[in-house]
Amino acid sequence: MYHGIFDSHAHYNDARFDEDRNQLLSSLPEKGVCGLINCGTDVTTSYESRTLAEQFSFVYFAAGIHPEDCRDVPIKALDEIEALVQHEKCVAVGEIGLDYYWPEPPKDVQLRFFEAQLQLALRHDMPVIIHDRDAHGPTMEMLRKYRPKGVLHCFSGSIETMKEAINLELYIGLGGAVTFKNAKKAIEVAKEVPADKLLLETDCPYMTPTPFRGKRNDSSLIAYTAEFIAGLRNINTQDLIDKCTENTKSLFFNA
Ligand SMILES: [Zn+2]
Repeated sequence: MYHGIFDSHAHYNDARFDEDRNQLLSSLPEKGVCGLINCGTDVTTSYESRTLAEQFSFVYFAAGIHPEDCRDVPIKALDEIEALVQHEKCVAVGEIGLDYYWPEPPKDVQLRFFEAQLQLALRHDMPVIIHDRDAHGPTMEMLRKYRPKGVLHCFSGSIETMKEAINLELYIGLGGAVTFKNAKKAIEVAKEVPADKLLLETDCPYMTPTPFRGKRNDSSLIAYTAEFIAGLRNINTQDLIDKCTENTKSLFFNA
């Protein structure tokens, strides 16, 4: 069994954890998990993330409005996000970004929320957790403009985009999707990303790694993702976990 696993991206507020949330979270430390960041996707889930961080010593949180959740939201809602990020256990603004997979919300609305939250993060000297789906060009353009500290979570871009992100001193978050059969691009990235820029994550309850794909994900299953990536890089799995936890602490805790 591995130890010192830090899950840099989770959603334990999700309804799929309703039946056993407290029991499951309480069991994580004995399964080798030393910390996790629960990410908000709108105002309500950002508050829920704060509550989880107040309940569990090893849980931290990020507050933010996700691009898929900014439709019909008044920009004023960011005042509440701004208050939340000043909480002692809030470690990032997130998740924020662009999602052009679906036609809605309109791109201009997504861009307005993304930009305003990048500015918010810079005002408070906080890192950002970025969601970029089918929007690599405009996402990178915004990141070049603002140069925040942060991570591209569940990275799905090319090697070229990865290198550009590294030049901006951003981190690359990889989760269960790397283990999926069609993950050619992610596998290349997992091999090439510099060791001091890689973060492990679940995005649970989603993105469950092989061999549990289709089931509910949780932070203890990072072990499978880590074994897979360590195999690609031909290194020891515990060493990879330790390095990624060190990276997570350095990004989110200035440690
Ligand atoms: Zn997420």
